[in-house]
Amino acid sequence: MKGLYIHIPFCRSKCPYCDFYSCLSKNADIETYVGSVIDEIKTGRRTKEFTQNSELCFDTIYFGGGTPSVIGADNIGKIINCAKEHYNITDDAEITVECNPSTVDDDFFRKLSFYGVNRISLGMQSAVDNERKKLGRFSDRNQVLSVIESARKQGITNISLDVMLGIPEQTMTSLDETIDFLIATDVPHISAYMLSIEEGTIFHKRADSLNLPDEDTVCDMYMHLSEKLRNSGFIHYEISNFAKKGYESRHNTKYWNCEEYLGIGPSSHSFVDGKRFFSERDTNAFINGEKAVYDTSGGDRDEYIMLRLRLSEGIIFEEFKNRFGIDFPAEIIKKALDFEKQGLMTVSVTGIALTTDGFLISNYIISELIN
Ligand code: SF4
Repeated sequence: MKGLYIHIPFCRSKCPYCDFYSCLSKNADIETYVGSVIDEIKTGRRTKEFTQNSELCFDTIYFGGGTPSVIGADNIGKIINCAKEHYNITDDAEITVECNPSTVDDDFFRKLSFYGVNRISLGMQSAVDNERKKLGRFSDRNQVLSVIESARKQGITNISLDVMLGIPEQTMTSLDETIDFLIATDVPHISAYMLSIEEGTIFHKRADSLNLPDEDTVCDMYMHLSEKLRNSGFIHYEISNFAKKGYESRHNTKYWNCEEYLGIGPSSHSFVDGKRFFSERDTNAFINGEKAVYDTSGGDRDEYIMLRLRLSEGIIFEEFKNRFGIDFPAEIIKKALDFEKQGLMTVSVTGIALTTDGFLISNYIISELIN
């Protein structure tokens, strides 16, 4: 089973730290864009070259962006219905929509629920209103609470909140306020990302005046968040993700398990039939039917190791052997044992994994292991 990703490249305004591909919704022809997504599902003309030998069976659909909620629930419903008609979608598919709290209401969730959406991901970023304003988010904390209530009232209880570490002027005390809020809402999933200052963003231009917490403080924040959430019943199941048991994101876990997925929309990436390919960051080109571009072959040994080590479960030797037909390399286990002595990895007879300390420097550890 593959995952289906639908990219909605529109946002109400551009957040000052964001370098994702998105355009302002007020200038966009949303109906034409939705028509192009539907055209792609029906004809596959932009991706057929890569998907024609593969069965398109999906057990997850993920609407990401941008801000998918700005296209309205009926447009989301049209895309879901078309996908169900033209692809093989399992009855119990996980269907997620990313939402911005300021673009949704009761009616929106009522319709989403009717169309089969069973999971939402809310970009909250912080429970401290002043921190959210600095990130260009204008909903206040009470609005976030009422959006959660609204979704629950319509039966959507699988809710994820996004939070950010390293926000301008964030302190350990203000982070605690956010963590307490997260725990009090009783949502079953939390994603936590460290703010990174990307070239071409407003934050990049103003980096010197942002008053950002220093790198050591951000690392302390990460460890503190992880510990507090784990003490409250969350599993820190991936570097940036926490879930109550059974609420891990099925769609995103496909990426870390090196499983296949099809992306539709500008800037979306796909991995089908052992090939990675993508659509350019250009909405008009997508509407005009521009074909996806080949990137690389995917799913080799190193890529699998790199992705699986993002999960707290790490690499299970038996699964590795089933997938690649060889034993897990002894030279990697030897290096992992050195990292274990530093408290950065665990090594057992069944597999290897990063510890929470190891998550903090995962890029370094992974490159040492596979080089
Ligand atoms: S809402 Fe999300 S995608 Fe849109 S500009 Fe803000 S961070 Fe970027």
